[in-house]
Amino acid sequence: MESSGTATVIKNAGSQFLLSVLPQEWAPFPAVLRGRIRLKGGVATNPVAVGDHVRYSFEETPSHEHPALITEVLPRRNYIIRRSTNLSRQAHVIAANLDQAFLIVSLYFPEIKLPFLDRLLVTCEVYGVPVTLVLNKVDLYRSEVPEQVSAFRRIYESAGYRVIETSTVTGEGIETLREATRGKVCLLSGESGVGKSSLIRALDPSLDPKVGAISEAHLQGKHTTSLYEMYRTRDEAFLIDTPGLRGFGLVDLGKEEIALYFPEMLKASRQCRFTPCTHTHEPGCAVKAAVDAGTISAERYNSYLGMLEEDSKFR
Ligand code: GDP
Ligand code: ZN
Repeated sequence: MESSGTATVIKNAGSQFLLSVLPQEWAPFPAVLRGRIRLKGGVATNPVAVGDHVRYSFEETPSHEHPALITEVLPRRNYIIRRSTNLSRQAHVIAANLDQAFLIVSLYFPEIKLPFLDRLLVTCEVYGVPVTLVLNKVDLYRSEVPEQVSAFRRIYESAGYRVIETSTVTGEGIETLREATRGKVCLLSGESGVGKSSLIRALDPSLDPKVGAISEAHLQGKHTTSLYEMYRTRDEAFLIDTPGLRGFGLVDLGKEEIALYFPEMLKASRQCRFTPCTHTHEPGCAVKAAVDAGTISAERYNSYLGMLEEDSKFR
C-alpha cells in the first residue's frame, strides 16, 4: 500500500536526498527523484535543492534499500542561486524557502571588501531573502579600530540592515545570534575563514560543519559529495551552510534595475526628477542629493556605480 507525505530536503548528494518532516521532527530518511522533475521555466541544473518542500511517496518505511520517491517539488517562497559566470544560463539553486540569510563578515582576517558584500546583498534582495549581517571576530580589531566598526554599522544600518557583532572567542553576540536564528530556516554565507564553522559550533557544540551534519553512511553509494546541507541546532534553528561564495553575487540585472535592490536608493529615487534615473548624471537626482547630504553612504553609492560599470561591460 502506498503512503505519501510532504517533507523538507535537508541534504542533496548527487541523485540522492535526505528528507525530514520539519519543523516537527528531525528524522532524516533517504529519497530519490521519480523520473524527471522539471522546474517550470527554470534553468537550474538541479531541480531539487536543500530547503525545498517536496511531496514523496513510499511503499514501505523508507530505508537505503527502499528510499522514498520524491514526486513533486512544491512552489518555492524564495531561493538563492549561483551562476558560474555573469552570462551563464546555467544556474544552481543553493537553497530554497529561506526565512533569513546571515552574511558573515569580518573587517580583518580576512579583510572585508565592501563592493563584494554589497553585491551579495543585492543578490539577496533580488531573490527576496531578508538579510542580517554578522560582523565576526570583533575581539581581534574593535578596540584597535573602533571608528571603523562604527562606520561599518552606520553604512549598513542606514541602508536598512541589521548588524550583529560577534566573537566566538569571547562569546559576545552569540546569544543575540541564537535568538535571531531560533525556529527559522537560515542561510549562512561568508568568505572562507570569517568564522562560519566556529559560529555554528558556538550555537551548538554538537555540530561540526567540517565533518558534516549527517554522516555519509546514511546515504548509499561510495562517492557522495554534497555542497549544501541543513543543520538543526539544539535551539531548533535550521542552518544551511554554504561553503565558499563564488558565483553567489552574480545576478543578471539591467542598468535601470540595479538601484531597485539598494533599499536606501530605491526609497530616495521616488523623488528623482526623471524616471527611469540611473542616479549618475541626471539633474534633480534625489539619490545623488542624498549621497551629498550623507544620508546615503558614499561606500554604498560607489558599489552601485561599480555594478553599473560592470553591467555595461557585459552588455
Ligand atoms: P570558516 O572558514 O568561515 O568556517 O571559518 P572557521 O570557523 O574555520 O574560522 C577560521 C579561523 O578563524 C579559525 O582559526 C578560527 O579559530 C578563527 N575564528 C573564528 N571566529 C573567531 C572569532 O570570533 N575571533 C577570533 N579571534 N578568531 C576566530
Ligand atoms: Zn536619481
